[in-house]
Amino acid sequence: MKNYVLSIDAGTTSSRAVLFDKLGNQCAIAQHEFKQFFPREGWVEHDPIEIWKTQLKAIIDVIKLANIQVEEIDSIGITNQRETTVIWDKKTGKPIFNAIVWQDRRTANICEDLKKIGKDKIFQKKTGLILDAYFSGTKIKWILDLDPNFRKKGENGDIVFGTIDTWLIWNLTSGKVHVTDTSNASRTLLYNIHEKKWDEELLKILEVPKAMLPNVSNSSEIIGVINKSYLGYEIPIGGIAGDQQAALFGQMCVNPGDVKNTYGTGCFCIMNTGKNPVISKNKMLTTIAWTIKNETTYAIEGSVFIAGALVQWLRDQLNIVKSAPEIEQLAKTVKNNGGVTFIPALSGLGAPFWDPHATGAIMGITRGTKKGHIARAALESIALRSRDIILEMEKDANTKFHSLKVDGGASKNNLLMQIQADLLKTKVIRPKITETTALGAAFFSGLSTEFWPSINSINDMWEEDKSFVPKLSDSKSNIISMWEKRVLKVLS
Ligand code: ADP
Repeated sequence: MKNYVLSIDAGTTSSRAVLFDKLGNQCAIAQHEFKQFFPREGWVEHDPIEIWKTQLKAIIDVIKLANIQVEEIDSIGITNQRETTVIWDKKTGKPIFNAIVWQDRRTANICEDLKKIGKDKIFQKKTGLILDAYFSGTKIKWILDLDPNFRKKGENGDIVFGTIDTWLIWNLTSGKVHVTDTSNASRTLLYNIHEKKWDEELLKILEVPKAMLPNVSNSSEIIGVINKSYLGYEIPIGGIAGDQQAALFGQMCVNPGDVKNTYGTGCFCIMNTGKNPVISKNKMLTTIAWTIKNETTYAIEGSVFIAGALVQWLRDQLNIVKSAPEIEQLAKTVKNNGGVTFIPALSGLGAPFWDPHATGAIMGITRGTKKGHIARAALESIALRSRDIILEMEKDANTKFHSLKVDGGASKNNLLMQIQADLLKTKVIRPKITETTALGAAFFSGLSTEFWPSINSINDMWEEDKSFVPKLSDSKSNIISMWEKRVLKVLS
């Protein structure tokens, strides 16, 4: 009897395994952190072997915790930190270099050089991405440039590339399957999202041998089974998707115009644009949301670097709260922001300003300013930055969002969600299960095995926790006009 789907959520700081039942309830979760390496300013690495070991441990632990039989698991879905790059030796299974993490900026100069000769336009046209160090392509090039033998080995297929999904699947299948899905492939700078194939011209520009690259599967498709030696049973792997795309699916944003915003360290906002890729005029990313039965759904994505991180900063640097959730109580000690505007440019300002040299500011302070005003202005600034990108996305998609689904740690803050609804003049909806990333991966997998018969059957399981209806008032338009004036003052 199959009762569960196991979701592997391979995050940036921890390996997690989550077990869901047929009703989409989260039954158990296990999590192990792994080390972050910062060898130089702007460099971020992970040890791929440690990622694999902690992930396997999380899988074993979650089954023990839930106290179930392995045979009850229908299938496994995988979701992962995107863009992080691993290259390993096919014979030994050993990585030839540490994983270079998405946040790593070491290849910024490669991107700059390519921009100077006008190549950024080709990348944007074919991949939907901005030519930036975030994405895998220049990271692969950087590793291959380390040793003159590497490219030859790549051409022979002796060394191979993968994002974290690919690396974990290769290990889970003991080297039998070398695969990624379209949502992850679309973050590499090498995948043509229109033709849905690795692009020869882009491979040439970045000098990446095609033989190194994984096969590209649907996001919902049985691509292999895990080796029996791990759990004593060959469980099928039925789903793969990058974390933000999995969250979009977990939120059941399955129709064009559906949009979700995740409030974590930063904010990630993604909108389903249906069967058509919308190329942004406002430096948003165009990406593949998922592919099911060879039919691809596209999305447009915008992100804010600092969201919950601002609350962490207030907690750890200014000590005005002891815990992140406390900020809500503090902000409620005042009726409004008292004229204070917080510009959260703690690491530059992203879309639509794109000013990496902007710095943060707290403006409008008087002798009457209290801690509560600062807290309230900080929450408003998170919602204002999300509003900034959402407005750009609406322009690109030429539509007004009917509602915004939310998740992530800071979405538990009711005041922040109400402010967001008021500022956007849009209903904000929070689901009961906020582990939407893991849930999305489980859904992809369970669909491929018919554990869940259809998207409609999944849609029926999606449950609202709370919705926030905009309360329109003058003070909110005041917040916006102050923000629009003051944000310009921090630009470099
Ligand atoms: P990530 O996945 O990026 O690590 P999470 O989704 O776990 O992030 O959310 C954690 C972030 O949310 C932290 O930056 C924290 O400061 C913030 N946060 C958590 N709870 C609240 C809250 N109630 N109000 C505001 N911010 C919060």
